[in-house]
Amino acid sequence: MPQCILNIALDTPLNACFDYRWPCADGARPQVGQLALVPFGRREVVGLIVGVADTSTVPADKLKDALAVRGQLAPLSPQWLALAGFAADYYQRPLGEVALPGLPKNLRVLTTVALDRAIKKLAKDASVHDGTPLDMPRLNEAQQRAADAIGGARGFAPTLLYGVTGSGKTEVYLQACAQVLAREADGQILILVPEINLTPQLEGNIRARFPGVMLATLHSSLSEGERMLHWLAAHEGKARIVLGTRLAILASLPHLQLIVIDEEHDPSYKQQEGLRYSARDLAVWRAWQLGIPIVLGSATPSLESWHHAQSGRYRKLELRERAVKNAVLPRVKLLDMERDRPKDGLTSHLVAALKLRMERGEQSLLFLNRRGYSPVICCESCGWISNCTRCTSFMVLHKPEHRLRCHHCSLELRIPRHCPTCGNVDLQPLGRGTQRVEEGLQQLFPEARILRIDADSTRRKGSAQAAFDSVHRGEVDILIGTQMVAKGHDFKKLTLVGILNPDTALFSQDYRASERLFAQLMQVAGRAGRAAQSEGGSVSEVLIQTRYARHPLYDAVVNHDYDHFAGALLEERAQAALPPYLFQALLRAEAPELATAIAFLQAAQACLAHPAITINDPIPMSMTRVHNVDRAQLLVESASRPALQAFLKEWLAALRDMKSRVKWSLEVDPLDI
Ligand SMILES: [Zn+2]
Ligand SMILES: [Zn+2]
Repeated sequence: MPQCILNIALDTPLNACFDYRWPCADGARPQVGQLALVPFGRREVVGLIVGVADTSTVPADKLKDALAVRGQLAPLSPQWLALAGFAADYYQRPLGEVALPGLPKNLRVLTTVALDRAIKKLAKDASVHDGTPLDMPRLNEAQQRAADAIGGARGFAPTLLYGVTGSGKTEVYLQACAQVLAREADGQILILVPEINLTPQLEGNIRARFPGVMLATLHSSLSEGERMLHWLAAHEGKARIVLGTRLAILASLPHLQLIVIDEEHDPSYKQQEGLRYSARDLAVWRAWQLGIPIVLGSATPSLESWHHAQSGRYRKLELRERAVKNAVLPRVKLLDMERDRPKDGLTSHLVAALKLRMERGEQSLLFLNRRGYSPVICCESCGWISNCTRCTSFMVLHKPEHRLRCHHCSLELRIPRHCPTCGNVDLQPLGRGTQRVEEGLQQLFPEARILRIDADSTRRKGSAQAAFDSVHRGEVDILIGTQMVAKGHDFKKLTLVGILNPDTALFSQDYRASERLFAQLMQVAGRAGRAAQSEGGSVSEVLIQTRYARHPLYDAVVNHDYDHFAGALLEERAQAALPPYLFQALLRAEAPELATAIAFLQAAQACLAHPAITINDPIPMSMTRVHNVDRAQLLVESASRPALQAFLKEWLAALRDMKSRVKWSLEVDPLDI
């Protein structure tokens, strides 16, 4: 029987391609990019064929047979394999660990029942594949120019679409998409968005606009069956528009012609565990590899993208005005909490503004990025506070559930009846979360319809969507929420945004904190006044309660002045030699004792030197202990990306050889340091 050797990538942390034997009758060989079921240890697993050969360097008696090849699925394209290969290389992970988790779970199980079902279902689908759009609204001049530039671009053309909130970036994307769909007979488009809770609105818009085009969504709240079907629709080229969150960047799209990244500055494009990739950065690489245009849109671009736009690497398109006629940017005002002392967390000025909106039947939004009732409870007689026993953090009071919860290790306790140290029964909440603000509002405005939206109020599947729908239907007077409410939503009746307590981020040790705070404030401010101002209606306002009213960051927010602010930040970064002028990687280690983690990092620091690389001293992470594990980190820096990449490769090999029991991981281009 003629046979061949399959080199197969498996999802294992070790380096990770193995040879298997496969009988090929009639000379028909499996192809690179197909999936195969193979024995591995005592298990059977699905791997990805990355090589087919006649011989193996593994001795014949050690070779095992592959069990099955998933012949019903078209092979993943060489371009897709190259993308996975690049990600593996760049983020210093084995190929199998990148390529396989990016596939639907149902493709990686022992049976092909789910795959066969999805194939059958798709075969029945008689999509018309007609890209003719319906009801294209007229664009303003700046929008039209942007849509034409993006839709008409050929070859690798990265574009930064810098448009103020409410300037109609979505409409620009849709019309650029229409041009691409009309021009490229099979062309596919990938649209990435940061949050799942933004997808339904955009999904509806796309479906309404392109009724003849199959749209597939890819995000983490799909069922496995849906995910299989949608992934397959993209892989077979049937879905011409794929809309997804960061994981969709690894979708198989054989006819990809355009990539759109909405809110490109958003930190959620960065995966924060396992393969810590940046979907935005991978998207730019993917566009470059395929020689296709990519557009990165934002009202507050990341400094990395802004830097590229300034240096001419990206083309910059600007939308400086709101798209809706007579809709203007809200007036931003600072409320000095030193002068106007807040009661129940609200200054008298903010209360008056809320009252005015109530009287006029307009909506208000209060933004506080802290969920729970209060971040800590304390005993005023002995000074006890509700620390988490497992983490360097506090137990947060959740009053409606009568619980203390640690947001880092999920430890949950009943609220103690008395102080565990001195027995005092009068324990006090300290500080203010969304639940407490909600309670205060209910007392202030007993007649108001108040809705809180945060991770606690939206645990059930679909509840976030239901909550947002009720805001859109006008059933809510005052909305209070965390960053969940800050992004994307287009609340037509909203004319007031109040921002509570943003000051803490001003003094963070993280050099990215001010960039993030600015983006967040501009995003949430941008929820106000998106519709045309009605006769006699309120001027839309954003009120920021602060103790540091003279801080330059607030100055920039008041003036809607991203350009100037970004310019100043970039100058600071250049002077301090920080990204984007420097490239970084972070080695993290965790152990039951801090000393163990530090000792490992010291050994790592000493084991390899390179003239173009700076290896900083190990330090404990700012939140050192989580779930009874101590964590430390070591920052590696270089002015040269290739030098850093070359160093990391060699360094990782040395670290693996150390065979330490300490759990460690490496992150390239870390966001949180
Ligand atoms: Zn006490
Ligand atoms: Zn904890």
